[in-house]
Amino acid sequence: MKIVLLGAPGSGKGTLAGKLVDELNIPTISTGDLLRKTAASGTEFGNKIKETMASGGLVSTETVLEMLKARLGESDTKNGYILDGFPRTIEQAQLLENIADIDACLYLDVDKDVIVDRLSGRITCRDCGKIYNSKTYKETTCECGGELYVRDDDKPEAIAIRFETYEKNTKPLIKYYQDKGILKTVKGMDDPMDTFKNAIDALDCAQKEN
Ligand code: AMP
Repeated sequence: MKIVLLGAPGSGKGTLAGKLVDELNIPTISTGDLLRKTAASGTEFGNKIKETMASGGLVSTETVLEMLKARLGESDTKNGYILDGFPRTIEQAQLLENIADIDACLYLDVDKDVIVDRLSGRITCRDCGKIYNSKTYKETTCECGGELYVRDDDKPEAIAIRFETYEKNTKPLIKYYQDKGILKTVKGMDDPMDTFKNAIDALDCAQKEN
């Protein structure tokens, strides 16, 4: 099954994807993670990507698509995958159609005030990418032992721009996938396990329809 995960920054896409991976036995492909790896390479190209990401804006579609295509060519994607962070624009969704038949788009619906609260305390592990909230997680390192840090794009100035970018460029994808008849809205809950159960229910419907 090929799934697109859609939702505002901080809606919990990464957390949900992590749970779906175990359940569905397919990998998650996060374009944000792919870009962060390149951004950390120290090359001029990497530094340019890092700058764009830190600003809260979007990296060029050409760059992201190239990385995505390479990742989709790997053998673990043969039974499907979950796309987290792609597409982010209608143009990207149209380009995706040339390389993949998407079965379902899971739209993670979370109230904006909940999201702003979550993002403002978000800390990420430098090693495994796990996300915590500094208001509830009081350790100084990740469970894996990795260093925790605040991503540049989780700083307040960038959060505001990421929201604007989402509203303007990414939100129209809800209607895009609705019109294609594959949109499944998943209500995001306080407890990630409840969100996960909602997603599984939505996907069961999608599987029955296919
Ligand atoms: P994420 O980890 O999905 O929140 O992505 C972090 C940042 O990576 C975004 O704010 C963008 O700057 C960049 N990014 C991730 N995916 C894309 C995409 N599909 N198109 C353009 N930029 C992206």
